[in-house]
Amino acid sequence: MATYDYDVLYIGSGHGTFDGAIPLGAKGKKVAVVEQDLVGGTCPNRGCNAKIILDSPVALQRHMENVHGVVTGETTINWPANQAHKHAVIDGLPAFIQGLLDNNNIDIIFGRGILADEHTVKINGQAKTANKIVISTGLRSNRLDIPGTNFAHDSEEFLNLEQIPQHVTVIGAGYIAMEFATMANAAGAKVTVLLRGDKALRAYHQPFVEEIINDLTQRGVTFMRGVTVDEITENGQQYTVNTGSATIETDWVLDATGRIPNVENIGLEEVGVKYNAKGIVVDDYLRTSVPNIYASGDVIDKSQPKLTPTAIFESLYLMHTFAGETTEPIVYPVIPSVVFTSPRLAQVGVTVAEAKAHPESYTLEINHIPDDWYRQVDQEQMGDNVLIFDKNHKLVGATEVSHKADDVINALLPAIEFKFGPSEIERMVHLFPTIASSAWGQL
Ligand code: NDP
Repeated sequence: MATYDYDVLYIGSGHGTFDGAIPLGAKGKKVAVVEQDLVGGTCPNRGCNAKIILDSPVALQRHMENVHGVVTGETTINWPANQAHKHAVIDGLPAFIQGLLDNNNIDIIFGRGILADEHTVKINGQAKTANKIVISTGLRSNRLDIPGTNFAHDSEEFLNLEQIPQHVTVIGAGYIAMEFATMANAAGAKVTVLLRGDKALRAYHQPFVEEIINDLTQRGVTFMRGVTVDEITENGQQYTVNTGSATIETDWVLDATGRIPNVENIGLEEVGVKYNAKGIVVDDYLRTSVPNIYASGDVIDKSQPKLTPTAIFESLYLMHTFAGETTEPIVYPVIPSVVFTSPRLAQVGVTVAEAKAHPESYTLEINHIPDDWYRQVDQEQMGDNVLIFDKNHKLVGATEVSHKADDVINALLPAIEFKFGPSEIERMVHLFPTIASSAWGQL
């Protein structure tokens, strides 16, 4: 029987890797992780963690607005201080994650991993062999293919801004566009958002998306729909964004037109791993077209949302597979998603659009958030939710726009994932009064 340097070697050290690699190392498997940049990958270092810290004072500002008169005084975001706080919280994360890997006898090999054959990865020319290889190389920001695209910035550069520019122009209207437009506006920037079509946040319930757009518009953000960006030119200290219908003078341009898989120059073609524009093709066991090579996390071409919780679930599934604890295909749970605008927009399970398309299978309940006494505690002024039930009145989906939408959807998750009926719901006793008891009270 062939012998290898490792039982499992991961290319990339993000959530698609480390959540599963750490317990796999703890179970005694010989594991290596190859990383060319910061240990932990996008989410801890240049994505979710950084964003939620920078966003934290925005949520506080909104709360202060709501309780204005009860609590008095101005709330102004000091962006450099906010940025310094972000560094204080996240700069130690690569060393922390590296420590977890070290403590479980996992080798971290720094450099770019390139597949040489189905059991070999070369890192800076040095060959390492493994019984199983996992490709977990994630996504990178798309860059528009237009003249002057080099004058635009990506989400990582926004998250590292030391000062908020006076006028930020955002191209795109997805997660990053809407969240970062919210932060820039709250921190005092003039903000212009350019939509190529008519809709923002396509995957979400559009009336709720429009509530967020209306709120941001009242706060001074300009949304321009049906706009094609043709070029960006430099104009002294400023930039000019040229579209067919308008010319926008701006200080800073954020290209938020999506993220694309890191599949180039890692030996996929040479070894025969199939991929397409959406990522690496895998079967129900997360195996690629080469049987002992797997993929995990955002680099996979999948119908599940490309989010951190999905990547964590996949890396844990692979851990169980490699540890010999399962031979079953992956069965995804319901995966919630949230846009961290203020108010938040969150959803899980069957969508409103799906439910409306199948009235024979679903009923919808609509709730106006300020009608709930508990939401009056914080004087919430806006927000709505829709709960979707099947014909047995079991909750199968929910979406909410509100300042606590993320917590509400989290609270409702067990009812959906485990298909709770009235007796299980009755046995779930929540602390009172809390948002979980308020959310559960709707069932
Ligand atoms: P999204 O896919 O969410 O949005 C992309 C936006 O860019 C859409 O509005 C799209 O328009 C527009 N767009 C695409 N191509 C062009 C183009 N050529 N010209 C103009 N506009 C264009 O991508 P993001 O970059 O916002 O986020 C990437 C991923 O990062 C997300 O899918 C998610 O996985 C992750 N993420 C998750 C967050 C969270 O969980 N809260 C937060 C931030 C990122 P159209 O709709 O018309 O196609």
